[in-house]
Amino acid sequence: MKILIINAGSSSIKFQLFEMENEKVIAKGACQMIGLADPFIEFKANGREIIKHLPMKDHTQALEAVLDTLLNSELAVIKSFDEISAVGHRCVQGGWLYSESVLITDEVIENLKKTKDISPLHAEANIAGMVGCRKVMPNTPQVVVFDTAFHSTMPEKAFMYGIKYEDYENFHVRKYGFHGTSHRYILGETAKIMGKDPKDIKIVSCHIGNGSSITAISGGKSIDTSMGFTPLEGVMMGTRSGDIDPTVVAFLADKKNKTASQIIDYLNKESGVMGISGVSSDMRELNDAIQKGNERAKLALDMMCYRITKHVGAMLTVLNGADAIVFTAGIGENQEDLREKVLDSLSFVGVKFDREKNNHLPRGTVEEISTPDSKIKVYRIPTNEELLIARDTVEVAKLNN
Ligand code: AMP
Repeated sequence: MKILIINAGSSSIKFQLFEMENEKVIAKGACQMIGLADPFIEFKANGREIIKHLPMKDHTQALEAVLDTLLNSELAVIKSFDEISAVGHRCVQGGWLYSESVLITDEVIENLKKTKDISPLHAEANIAGMVGCRKVMPNTPQVVVFDTAFHSTMPEKAFMYGIKYEDYENFHVRKYGFHGTSHRYILGETAKIMGKDPKDIKIVSCHIGNGSSITAISGGKSIDTSMGFTPLEGVMMGTRSGDIDPTVVAFLADKKNKTASQIIDYLNKESGVMGISGVSSDMRELNDAIQKGNERAKLALDMMCYRITKHVGAMLTVLNGADAIVFTAGIGENQEDLREKVLDSLSFVGVKFDREKNNHLPRGTVEEISTPDSKIKVYRIPTNEELLIARDTVEVAKLNN
């Protein structure tokens, strides 16, 4: 059984085709520059890669290009569209409407349009991906999996902001949390390594990539998370400031002669590691600059580690202690000195780890970093959001029966 996973952005669509018998990816790639000058598709299968420049005026045409490449290119991996049993779509914001993955219907699309108010950029792109895919594969079941869904279990005291209750009721202003698919995947993998039921462990899941969020999980559920109404809240990230006093928005708008939404854009796209270092939002480039003695690059890394440590500490308190702390995503999986700094700050709660092992982890493997006498286990686990979307798609489309 083959499942196609679609992750639609405003001018790009990433895709993966899974063979579910062994849960392996048999083809993957991305359409880039959709609706812009010179769009192209990158496509990898059987250890080879092709790049084709094709017309893609919108998401529908881009999805036609994906299907055509899967079927007709020199790297074709299917003989007929019928081989694709279902499509799973990643959707960033399910808002107040969806707390689990659902089969896509006209009603679901109409409902999701209501989330444009709270998540304009993501909603527009995600809906375009779903609408386009339903047009080109009208008879194939399609499922949507939400980044926010896993956090819908947060208690009111965690997800409410301290503002007028009516603004929550009227405008749905609350903490939603993101990376839910990744945190849910990490919960499952951690339970597997520990040989326990996911409901019986308490973990702090640290998804640290270009975007980062720290989540407290107990009883199989997210009970608090660092991201908020949008992915801007929480720890400092590649280009996002993370937590900041909101009066800074009005102050900077006044000083820079900008609107509030322009300042929010600046906090999302020009701040964080990029803004502090002035070098890059990419950790590899930041590391190079640190090696060359760049003090602001070093400060950016220090600030990132410090803020992650504070949030991990908060989540450990919320959980009243945890069984495991897990690092995942591009930086969490690969940046050993970030893990080292965060873990060093947690020795007061009995975290002990193998420094040598932490500093020499092979790429892409599940590893325990804590020593046997550590009060809390520490793992590095590669995330796999697409696989969880594929598994949800099989379940929601009832393809197992
Ligand atoms: P993600 O958003 O999960 O794709 O993570 C992207 C981030 O991971 C970028 O800042 C990358 O620089 C970082 N990253 C990826 N590979 C490495 C690596 N080997 N060492 C350090 N950072 C890495």
